[in-house]
Amino acid sequence: LKRILIIGGSDAGVSAALRAREVYPIAGITIAVADKYPSFSVCGLPFYVSGEAPEWSTLAYRSAEEIEKMGIRLLLEHRAKHIDLGAQTVNFLDKTGRTRMLPYDRLILATGAASTRPSLSGTDLPGVFFLRWMDDALAMERYIAKHRPKSAIIIGSGYMGLEMADALTRRGLSVTMLVRSGKVLKTIDPRLQEIVRAELVRNGVKLIDRIDMTGIEEQEGGPAVRNAQRVEVKGDLILLATGSRPETDLASAAGIPIGVQGGIRVNRAMETGLNGIYAAGDCVEAWHRLLKKNVYPPLGTTAHKQGRVAGENAAGGHAQFVGTLGTQAVKIFDIVVARTGLRDSEAREAGFDPTTAEVEAWDHKAYSPGATPMRIRITGDRKTRQLLGAQIVGHYKAEVSKRIDVFAAAISAEMSVDDMIDLDLSYSPPLSGTWDPVQAAAMEWTRGSTMNRAPLLHPGLNFLREDKAVTAEQSYLSCKTQKRLAFAG
Ligand SMILES: Cc1cc2nc3c(=O)[nH]c(=O)nc-3n(C[C@H](O)[C@H](O)[C@H](O)COP(=O)(O)OP(=O)(O)OC[C@H]3O[C@@H](n4cnc5c(N)ncnc54)[C@H](O)[C@@H]3O)c2cc1C
Repeated sequence: LKRILIIGGSDAGVSAALRAREVYPIAGITIAVADKYPSFSVCGLPFYVSGEAPEWSTLAYRSAEEIEKMGIRLLLEHRAKHIDLGAQTVNFLDKTGRTRMLPYDRLILATGAASTRPSLSGTDLPGVFFLRWMDDALAMERYIAKHRPKSAIIIGSGYMGLEMADALTRRGLSVTMLVRSGKVLKTIDPRLQEIVRAELVRNGVKLIDRIDMTGIEEQEGGPAVRNAQRVEVKGDLILLATGSRPETDLASAAGIPIGVQGGIRVNRAMETGLNGIYAAGDCVEAWHRLLKKNVYPPLGTTAHKQGRVAGENAAGGHAQFVGTLGTQAVKIFDIVVARTGLRDSEAREAGFDPTTAEVEAWDHKAYSPGATPMRIRITGDRKTRQLLGAQIVGHYKAEVSKRIDVFAAAISAEMSVDDMIDLDLSYSPPLSGTWDPVQAAAMEWTRGSTMNRAPLLHPGLNFLREDKAVTAEQSYLSCKTQKRLAFAG
């Protein structure tokens, strides 16, 4: 075994190369990348557009030189065109249009995903953008600098659409979001969606629900969205945030089996089933720890882990991908929304007997400055009491993402909801409560609460305070809340 060839130089591809280098120091490792941005943070693109990360080159985890210094050969602007399974070679087209053939002993496919392109007219008009690659972000940036757009239409209200609503608002554009389903961020429960919606509106984002786009057309002054409802939807810039699909053309043309939602089929060793060929990241399906089956959650966190497993195994190791829980967090203006594991409906569909409790708890002691409530929904199995999932919405300074990580760790350890209460979590008044909010949620669940209890505080309202001392009314509410949640100390 000498030559490990990796196609794709983003999260999965670079993780695979680095791990293969550690495990097998003398292997010849090559990463071939279609564009010229290896090891770039796709997740950072909204923050480049917003201006929060103004220098695009800082989005690289590692520079090309740093990767090459580790003895990894990097071929930029080399697009793989054909895999010859028999000869164990891959043909590439380089930027000059020349074909180049590279042999491999082990091949890792890390070709990621591409933006879903609705089959409608006008998606290639000037001022209409997708956001997946550095080049997409640079093109949008050039357009903004040249045309100084004042308004933007975002089509889609998933994670990326929401981050971009925040980003473009920060850039001074007035944003309208088209929400075809009428539900903003469908991956969380409706009661939490309402908080997200309120936060968007509070920040001036106009939402248009239940609108069916039929195309995009050039009108005087910029692109306009044609729609079945004949609502006038016009902006100086349009972003199609309509999701992504696994990039598997190369794999399918070579006869590599395809699995869930179009991702390359893999086992937990990240093997495709074809001799010596591994695959990882957004181009593959992923094992779900709770569902015990493959799903397709295209996430950077999963891509890194799968890449590491693929790299280790391609280098002769025996690693296994333990699975995803779909843990994710997103910051939208001043709030953070996070989830892990299964929601009630998903758990029920998977054959569990779920019940869900909801609490609103202060992130730290209400008497300490900057205290802010967060809303937590926790799902467990009624019979086995196994913790199945959690969702949190709170102010972005309330450590929402680390709290969802506590739930993720607990689910990974197959803990029951009751076990959560016994966790020895840290406490100091400016940081948490003697019972952390995650434990307050667990206690509420163990009390057998119903799913749709009225909220203790007004949705959205209290997430908006920033570092202000709590008012008397809020203090009172906090005492009531804490009493109700059996907070001590
Ligand atoms: C705007 C945005 C924000 C996101 N935010 C988050 C977040 O906050 N948290 C999170 O966990 N995830 C986030 N994601 C998802 C995350 O970016 C992806 O899961 C991650 O990038 C997947 O990594 P990957 O290596 O599998 O593939 P990709 O990042 O898609 O990279 C694929 C690589 O393959 C190369 N390639 C493709 N085809 C070929 C070919 N034929 N020949 C040669 N090279 C090829 C590409 O050039 C690229 O280098 C976000 C995604 C987007 C679009």
